[in-house]
Amino acid sequence: MVKNNILRLSGWGRNIRSTCKVVEYSENLNLKDFMKKKLIARGMGRSYGDSSLQPKLTINMSNHNNVIKFDKKKGTISVESGASIGQLLELTVRFGWFMPVSPGTKNVTVGGMVASNVHGKNHHVDGGFSNFIKEISLINKDGKRIRCSKKYNSDLFVMTVGGMGLTGIITNVTFKLLKIETSKVLQKKIFTKDLKETMQVFEKEKNKYSVAWLDFSAKNKELGRCIIFLGEHATRRELQKANLVNNLNFKMRNFISIPFELPFSVLNYFSINLFNFLYYRFQKINSKKFVGIDKFFYPLDRIKNWNLVYGEKGFIQYQFVLPKIYSYDGIVEIIKYLQTVNQLPFLPVLKFFKKSDIGIMSFPIRGYTLAMDFPVSEKIIPILNQLDKIVIKFKGRIYLTKDSRIRKNNFVKMYKKEIRFFKNNKYYKKGQFSSLQSERLLN
Ligand SMILES: Cc1cc2nc3c(=O)[nH]c(=O)nc-3n(C[C@H](O)[C@H](O)[C@H](O)COP(=O)(O)OP(=O)(O)OC[C@H]3O[C@@H](n4cnc5c(N)ncnc54)[C@H](O)[C@@H]3O)c2cc1C
Repeated sequence: MVKNNILRLSGWGRNIRSTCKVVEYSENLNLKDFMKKKLIARGMGRSYGDSSLQPKLTINMSNHNNVIKFDKKKGTISVESGASIGQLLELTVRFGWFMPVSPGTKNVTVGGMVASNVHGKNHHVDGGFSNFIKEISLINKDGKRIRCSKKYNSDLFVMTVGGMGLTGIITNVTFKLLKIETSKVLQKKIFTKDLKETMQVFEKEKNKYSVAWLDFSAKNKELGRCIIFLGEHATRRELQKANLVNNLNFKMRNFISIPFELPFSVLNYFSINLFNFLYYRFQKINSKKFVGIDKFFYPLDRIKNWNLVYGEKGFIQYQFVLPKIYSYDGIVEIIKYLQTVNQLPFLPVLKFFKKSDIGIMSFPIRGYTLAMDFPVSEKIIPILNQLDKIVIKFKGRIYLTKDSRIRKNNFVKMYKKEIRFFKNNKYYKKGQFSSLQSERLLN
């Protein structure tokens, strides 16, 4: 018997909610029957908007999560697509293997990582997750199981990585892990005085990981100043020298949770401005220290459901990337605009992308990417529409996995060639694998 439920679902931003018929994925599911309707796969729902929602049929993959094969010598792993980063780290870290790419939360499935071709703090060195995938198995538009990689069925591979679930249901993934000696990261913190210096540090420092928090309260000469966090996996020798014990392991911990949804957002212009002001001043100057995996890679996971602080209307994350040559001017214009309209984002995060990734609809291109959270309010939508215009003017694009509101005409301006290629490809069938987002943007 197929277990199906009617559930009220949303993405992590909780800004679009939809009542969906949800079916649990299992190997025995007769998908050919289901494929008479439109459907979309869903992992842990950590995309922010409507990309994993389909009212007619949403297939929950998160319980299809076994590890099929883990080669501890070579560091390759084959998993069912619902396996999560947290679950995998509990298994692999004690053997000295880590995720090759980590988004800012470990509560994502491997299938979701493929479909969004996620990037981490090491994109400037390693590129996105697609670079580490050896093989994907998926159920395609004809209900057939099919395998693809960079070497075989490569057309399907490039359509699927970053393809937001629109080429089929990813069932299994094999990928390469990263060798580590310890479960500590040597973190260095650098304060920059303005955007120019921020970019110089990003491009000069040779660390594997880099990410910056941008101080939106800074204006004029200080505009674009940041705290940049750099990191390297610590070696055994470094820990010995610092008299630290090397516990090569990783355990999922229960962190604090917010007990209920707040009736309104506690984050407003004044609280965010004050936070920015204090955060920049009360951090220690240019420090260096060893930190754990959770603290460096997944700091937000420490509060289980932090998305509730934005109140019942939820929030929108706006993430864009601009080509390197336009990044400076574009980011300055965006900061100044948001300051003028008194809309400061909470925890704005800046990263540098090395180059475009494989994957037709993949987000990264060579340049700077900025992610900003805004509580939903009447004011915010026209402001974000204006940000779209600035991003288009500087030849940039937004990240689909964070989106819930871009208008189709603006999306087409950002991804014109890619959309044409995607829609005319034999691996895409309009209306088959289909989310609320794809109905909004591709129909
Ligand atoms: C706190 C936080 C920090 C984040 N930081 C980053 C970051 O640094 N870098 C980054 O790139 N992203 C980041 N993200 C976004 C996140 O990595 C992606 O949205 C990811 O796709 C979520 O995985 P999921 O399993 O929750 O997928 P879902 O949100 O459930 O789905 C996302 C997309 O993947 C598709 N999908 C999921 N599973 C399958 C499957 N088995 N087969 C086919 N399609 C599938 C869905 O249809 C949908 O289109 C962050 C998200 C949060 C909440």
